Amino acid sequence: MNLFRRQQNAQLDVHIYDSGCPGPNVIITGSIHGNEKGTVYGIHEFMTYLEQSKITLTKGKITAIPVVNLRAFNKSERCIDRDLNRNMRIYKKPKTHEDFICNALCPLLADADILIDLHAYEGGETAYVSCAPHNILEKELSVSIGCPEICWNFSNTIADARSEPFSIGTGEYIRQTGGVGIVIECGQKFQHDRCQLVAFESLINAVQFLDMADTRFIERKALNTPPEHISWHKYEIAYIKEKEGHSAKVFKHMDLVKKDTPLIYNDDGTVIKAPYDSFILMPRHEPEIGGDWMFIGKMEEPFASKAA
Ligand SMILES: [Zn+2]
Repeated sequence: MNLFRRQQNAQLDVHIYDSGCPGPNVIITGSIHGNEKGTVYGIHEFMTYLEQSKITLTKGKITAIPVVNLRAFNKSERCIDRDLNRNMRIYKKPKTHEDFICNALCPLLADADILIDLHAYEGGETAYVSCAPHNILEKELSVSIGCPEICWNFSNTIADARSEPFSIGTGEYIRQTGGVGIVIECGQKFQHDRCQLVAFESLINAVQFLDMADTRFIERKALNTPPEHISWHKYEIAYIKEKEGHSAKVFKHMDLVKKDTPLIYNDDGTVIKAPYDSFILMPRHEPEIGGDWMFIGKMEEPFASKAA
């Protein structure tokens, strides 16, 4: 049974599907960044299947917010005033557009058990899951999504480069409130059809893994990657664009770089080189001053304790 209700306020258009039975309380978010549109279409496809009862919830509840940052989505821009997926908290005196969204979104995250946050990225095409698998549920949920790559330790890496509060995005916020959160980077953000497909399939895989829905009437378009073929990569160093310069080349996510390979040429003549043999993770070619430029990391599988 799918009991459906919709809640709209000035910031968020929230779609709630309730089985009426005990089970996980899952929140699905899209367009935290307004220019990652394919994922939104994937969430809408999933919602249509719920509303037509082609997917029947058997346990728990799903709260879907396909377009979190509507103003940025309508402008096809990452954000209006600032990156929504940083400094996520309740603001007593909200100033920016994204502060107001945080105030509407954070209580919903705090209320949920599990977050599935759908994104797309710039410097690469392979879909991957980003997580912080502190417990076995988050690790197994990440594996169940079906992506060939899983990256972890993003928040510690960004906190080392910036500050602890800055590093708090959706996943970090729900973990603070006792939940589990994964981010799915569904592919290259301008490949909308591909991102839509990955987003939709990921959501089907997640509800199957969580054993909360009957999905037998869904025709599957893509298969899961078997767990033994998944590559785990640990984020280790974040490079922030602090001054004018340019990337040493157009790096792609998962490019292998040898020690001392130039990564960034600054206009002042200084060069940033890879400190050891490593993988480039989530590069941007021409970020704004103050923006994330690229990350490096290494192959390593995380330890995950038993779920509480
Ligand atoms: Zn994003």
